[in-house]
Amino acid sequence: MADDPRRRILGVDRLVELPWYRALAEQHGGAWVRDQIREVLSALRSGAEPIPDSEDGYESLLRARIALGVAPSLVPVINATGVVLHTNLGRAPLANAARSAMAAAAGYSNLEFDLDTGKRGSRYDHCVELLCELTGAEGALVVNNCAAAVALALAAFAGGRSVLVSHGELVEIGGGFRIPEVVEASGARLVAVGTTNRTRVEDYRRALDGESVGAILKVHRSNFEVRGFTEDADLAALVELGRKRQVGVIHDLGSGLLLAPDMLGLPSEPTPQDSVRAGAELVAFSGDKLLGGPQAGVLVGTEEAIRRARRHPLCRAVRTDKVTLAGLEATLTLYRDPARAVAEVPALRMLSESAAAVESRARELVGRLSDAPGASALRVAEGESLVGGGTFPGVRLKSWTVSWTPRGTPDRILANLRKGDPPVVARVNEGSVVVDVRTVGQEQVEDLAGAIRRALSADGA
Ligand SMILES: *Cc1c(COP(=O)(O)O)cnc(C)c1O
Repeated sequence: MADDPRRRILGVDRLVELPWYRALAEQHGGAWVRDQIREVLSALRSGAEPIPDSEDGYESLLRARIALGVAPSLVPVINATGVVLHTNLGRAPLANAARSAMAAAAGYSNLEFDLDTGKRGSRYDHCVELLCELTGAEGALVVNNCAAAVALALAAFAGGRSVLVSHGELVEIGGGFRIPEVVEASGARLVAVGTTNRTRVEDYRRALDGESVGAILKVHRSNFEVRGFTEDADLAALVELGRKRQVGVIHDLGSGLLLAPDMLGLPSEPTPQDSVRAGAELVAFSGDKLLGGPQAGVLVGTEEAIRRARRHPLCRAVRTDKVTLAGLEATLTLYRDPARAVAEVPALRMLSESAAAVESRARELVGRLSDAPGASALRVAEGESLVGGGTFPGVRLKSWTVSWTPRGTPDRILANLRKGDPPVVARVNEGSVVVDVRTVGQEQVEDLAGAIRRALSADGA
């Protein structure tokens, strides 16, 4: 046992006295750094790492471990997938105006304080005027996300009673948002009417007899298409039916596009304004889909319906915070001038950018790489981007890509790109690495070029 190499491992007591150790402990917190050095020593004892010959070797090991520990878990990435509203990459990137407003609101704010009277105010008053102005509704309420907005609307209108939903709208939206489960969670009883492909107003009318119905829920089928022998009850017709029986209609719209879709070159899509005009009591939509703001759920509707939702205890459980409200307000403000919204809300700008402009960014990217080893493999080609976020499932946006067929496997290149700083998320198509430039901002081109340069060089080695 005398020559057990583990006897050479230095002890904690000796290491903690060294100047570099003290500096690290000062910087990162003594107790935490002591835990890290213990982990380093235990890795040495287990033989997972070779035992350093000098104190400097211990310093390197500790610094490496600390670097891992202090690296944030949530980091910015470059989205080179071409999916504009990429749910896994945080959906909508925010406008600069929203980013500044969020940073400013991060300190104290008048979140629940009325600056005119000096008395208590309500967080639920922020954004209301803007939302009413932009959608034509009488009232508005902002909560945590659209799923929460729908659950709250159902709880407020139909808790303990039935809610009528078309069989064709018992959908899953993604991320586990399933209409039957949301109805159940809100304490309402689901009554499915009609059939999967055809549901008429008459089906709702029949279900209204004999049931204690609290609401009719209409769900926008945002993430899939139905074709062929289909029929749907029109929202306005449902509102008319509901009015006769004193049953409110809730419209779960999902995306919340506040502009005419043709401004973005997109096909027809119902907007919150349409639903308000059709007379829905409550309309629910997301803040971070086509609205292009922070994660939030918005309810707009009649004054009475909004009051009911605000008073429901669930409202407190799904409230938003000051930073979100500030970002949403700044985003909504841009919509007062629709052209400005298209220019400054990144999701709208990316969706509406011409293929020619995307192409010139793709060529700029390749131009920056002209001197990189392996650059001759790079191709600039047409491609197709997606709207994403569970919206416009049938739409393909003409885009431009930079792609290459690596020597190694494309998956290894992708893994390499993900490990960079900032990480780049690209895709693979038929053995090639594909970088779609539509979702890459002009300010990211330089970083992206650096990442591709490193990936090419690693592939050549
Ligand atoms: C996306 C979507 C939701 C869920 O929205 P979140 O903001 O993700 O909670 C609900 N309903 C519809 C129709 C949707 O498209």
